[in-house]
This record gives sequence, structure tokens and C-alpha cells, in this order.
Amino acid sequence: MNNIFDSHCHYDDHWFDEDREAVLERVLGEGSVVSYVNHAATDYESAMFGIKNAGRFKNFYTSVGFHPEFASVLPQDWENKLRELYELAAATGKLTAIGEIGLDYHYEGYDRDKEIEVFDKQLAFANEKGLPVIVHSRNASQDTMDLLKKHGSRGVIHCFSGSAEMARQAVGMGLYIGFTGVLAFGNSKKAIKALQEVPMDRLLLETDCPYMAPPPYRGQRCESPMIAEVVKVVAQQKDLSEQQVCDQTCENAKRLYGIK
Ligand SMILES: [Zn+2]
Repeated sequence: MNNIFDSHCHYDDHWFDEDREAVLERVLGEGSVVSYVNHAATDYESAMFGIKNAGRFKNFYTSVGFHPEFASVLPQDWENKLRELYELAAATGKLTAIGEIGLDYHYEGYDRDKEIEVFDKQLAFANEKGLPVIVHSRNASQDTMDLLKKHGSRGVIHCFSGSAEMARQAVGMGLYIGFTGVLAFGNSKKAIKALQEVPMDRLLLETDCPYMAPPPYRGQRCESPMIAEVVKVVAQQKDLSEQQVCDQTCENAKRLYGIK
């Protein structure tokens, strides 16, 4: 197995503080099953991490954007910051998307109106720049879909946790669906049902690392090569070889992110 594209990862997480360089070299180096990784930015520093490493590693790509978790603590001039990050990332030639952006209603105490405002403005910005979006949606399916519809956005719903019905709707809108190691969890019936609604040319694979390590690594720090466990599940469900799953999902990510 080779040619895995990890379409969504967070190597800036503190969990990698001790050995980040060694991990990146192993994941992106010769002989790795991984061909590409895409860093999903969550705030200003995180986007700067992506921009820096896009300049250092041939197969490291990055997005820029503000995660809903930070919506209520963004500085007044956050839209200028987003434009600044866009310019820096675009200059590397490795900017893939605006993300990760979206809505997260899981936690009490987040300011939903602010989340909606920040998501709405970033969707508009992505369209202005002709970029796809990487969408985080947690317990917020209806509002997420409404906003994506309003903007006619292109992009991926990452770490998909919605219903089969939501997957069908998203695919109908031309969106891609990103699955993590959750697909390989023993109790993942809902995710498997959603997967069945996603045609092979709309499917992306991702770790969302360091989280969501699939079995047999569950509870450990996740790294991009562990996507191989998710590939096995997709191959079985879609009646394809593991290599076909890698090649097709890699092609999908390259198409969405505009990588030649
Ligand atoms: Zn993420």
C-alpha cells in the first residue's frame, strides 16, 4: 500500500512537541505509505505553522482559517489577519483551502451567533479567492448545510459525523466527505452507513491527528500512516483493492485542493 493523502492533520499539536521533526521526516520521507499531508489551520499561529512547513517539505500543504472554537476570542481585526495569512500561504504555492472553519455546538458556552458570523464571512472569503473550504461541523448539521448552500461553497466536510441523510445531501451539493479513523471503530455503524452514501470520487481520508487513532492504535497518538487501517475498511465496504482506495482518494484530494 502507498499513495495515502492525509487530507486533514494537526502536526502543530502539543502532543508532537517532543519529536515533531522526526515524525514529519518519517511521515513525509522516502518509503512512507503517505504521499501528501494537508495541515488544517485552526488559528493564526497554527496557520503560520502550516505556511512555514509548506515551505520546508515538498509534500506538505496547508490551509488557513479560523476554527469555530476560537470564534468568540478572535481579535477585532481578524478579517485582516485572515487576508494576511492568505497572502503568505498563497506565496508558497501550497495553499489548499480556507479551513478549518465551521460550527461547533457541542460545548455549552460557545457564542453561536459569533460562530455563525465568522463562518459566514470565511465562506464568502473562500469564494472571493476561488478556494474550497474545510468544514468542521459538530452538532450543527442544519445550520452548517444552510450556510454552505447560501454560499454555494465547494469543499469537504471533515471528520464526518453526520447521518447518512446528511452525507447524501452534501454529496448532492457537490461536496466531499472526509472520514477519519472513526470509520474503523467497532461501533461505527453510523459512519459506515454514511460511507455507503458517498461515491468513490467524493471521498477523502484523513487522520485529524493527533486524535482519532483507529484500532489497533486506539488511544495512542495518531499519525498519517495509520490511515492504512481506514483504507482497509473502505476497501471492504466498496469492494475495491486497498491500493485502489489509496489512489482514488489521493486523486480526489488533489482535485479538491488544486494540486497538480
Ligand atoms: Zn481538525
